[in-house]
Amino acid sequence: MPSLGYLAALAAVTTSITAEPYNTFDGEGFPACNNVASVHAATSVDDIVSVVKQAAADGTPIRASGKGHMWYDTMCSDNPDTIIIQTEAVNNISNLVLEKGAESGTVEIEAGVTFLQLAEWLHERNASMGYTLVNWNITMAGAVAMGGHRSSIREDSMVAAGVLSLDIVNGNGELVTVERDNDNDDWLAASTSLGLLGVIARMKFKVYPDFKVFAKQEILSEDEVLEGDIYGLIAPYATANLWWWPYLRKFHWRYYDEIPLTLSDQEGFQNTFSITDFEAGIAKTTLESGKYLPSSNWFFETTAFALWSAPNFKEKTTWDDITQWPVYGWNYDVLIGGLYPDQKPEWEQGLHGYTLELAFPVVMANEVLTRIREAFDASASQGRIMASTYRSGINIKFGKAYFDLLGQVTYNTSDGVDWTKGAININLATTLLDEFPARPHWTKNTREVFGNATQNLDPNHLARFKVS
Ligand SMILES: Cc1cc2nc3c(=O)[nH]c(=O)nc-3n(C[C@H](O)[C@H](O)[C@H](O)COP(=O)(O)OP(=O)(O)OC[C@H]3O[C@@H](n4cnc5c(N)ncnc54)[C@H](O)[C@@H]3O)c2cc1C
Repeated sequence: MPSLGYLAALAAVTTSITAEPYNTFDGEGFPACNNVASVHAATSVDDIVSVVKQAAADGTPIRASGKGHMWYDTMCSDNPDTIIIQTEAVNNISNLVLEKGAESGTVEIEAGVTFLQLAEWLHERNASMGYTLVNWNITMAGAVAMGGHRSSIREDSMVAAGVLSLDIVNGNGELVTVERDNDNDDWLAASTSLGLLGVIARMKFKVYPDFKVFAKQEILSEDEVLEGDIYGLIAPYATANLWWWPYLRKFHWRYYDEIPLTLSDQEGFQNTFSITDFEAGIAKTTLESGKYLPSSNWFFETTAFALWSAPNFKEKTTWDDITQWPVYGWNYDVLIGGLYPDQKPEWEQGLHGYTLELAFPVVMANEVLTRIREAFDASASQGRIMASTYRSGINIKFGKAYFDLLGQVTYNTSDGVDWTKGAININLATTLLDEFPARPHWTKNTREVFGNATQNLDPNHLARFKVS
């Protein structure tokens, strides 16, 4: 039985939602967990330790959650006793060390710190987190747990690549420090832990002097990519990605890199996921009809292509539209941006996306994309539409190779495939899981996809992870 003191403490900050779902950022109808006993809004690292300790004594399952910025019901088992420890309010940032003229330094952050919070905090102190920036509304710990990364082959872009040490509350409720050390399986497991080794409560993170970047976008024909040097399009830049418009047989090729601080006064701010009420209404109507009419998908893709050919940036000091590429600005404004004033994120406008994201070795990029084109053509000729992909194009990202046990971009695996050049991340049909050595993104796929994808994980890595 839990102690009374524990229950009293828990009652103050716990939302009891007995046997109810715990939802993702998409809200009602989109469960991250199907059945949880309660959600504990943690107040400090000590509080996390005491809740886990008590749960360990009671044999109660625990899952940590940051912002619920994930898809599908893959956060928990379906045990209705599960307690969620919500980390949002445990978000102190401290001990920045970055000497003048130094190439890099360190900072300490707690579990609930988001990318945007850390990026703003560092910018105010002339520092940055380099290219480990992923997205604004996500906790750093949540991204590290699940192997999050931005799109880059040249730079360290796994969020875990920036981690120097992790303080994890293990299954016994003990706070354990795991230092970066590639010779230690504890580190290699903790680096992409899937949250299975405990709650990441704190970490020491690598930082750099602040810097500015440019963003540029060009339109490429499908042939230029499918028959071209895909690695060569991505690898030279600090960060780059491709957006495929399969109806139009075109690609948007987006790339970013550092510029001298004095090159431009522009302060470009990228719109990521914000939308006006009017735009949301149009998008909803078109997409809903796309369930039934292929022509709506075509219409949506054509409209979206035109919209996304122009810069999705505003000048941060005036909120005027920026109409010309390249766009210049501070790294975090350009690379992750956020919401425009007076706009809401898409998911608060009732626009919900489904996703399926898999990583393939970049050395097979041409082969994989050609296979996807064949699959689209085959499904279209049978009068079927691959709705989730055709609706708004396909975002193709890349990941620099990074060694750990369960990361999407790990290498030296028993499949004998060359993953050292990095990975290409695509959303596509599950049949390709059998044809290529595809690995799943850990928060962007259904339980069924994970089931199919385990065949492509290195069994030695799985065994080493389990032992850890
Ligand atoms: C709109 C959107 C854009 C995204 N963009 C990218 C992208 O560009 N690149 C990319 O790689 N990913 C991306 N993601 C995925 C995202 O990085 C992951 O889903 C991330 O895990 C979400 O973090 P969160 O703080 O919201 O955690 P939650 O969604 O709350 O949790 C996700 C998982 O992490 C675990 N977890 C959370 N916090 C902790 C902790 N403190 N300790 C241990 N385990 C923990 C949870 O148990 C759960 O299994 C995106 C997601 C969305 C919704």
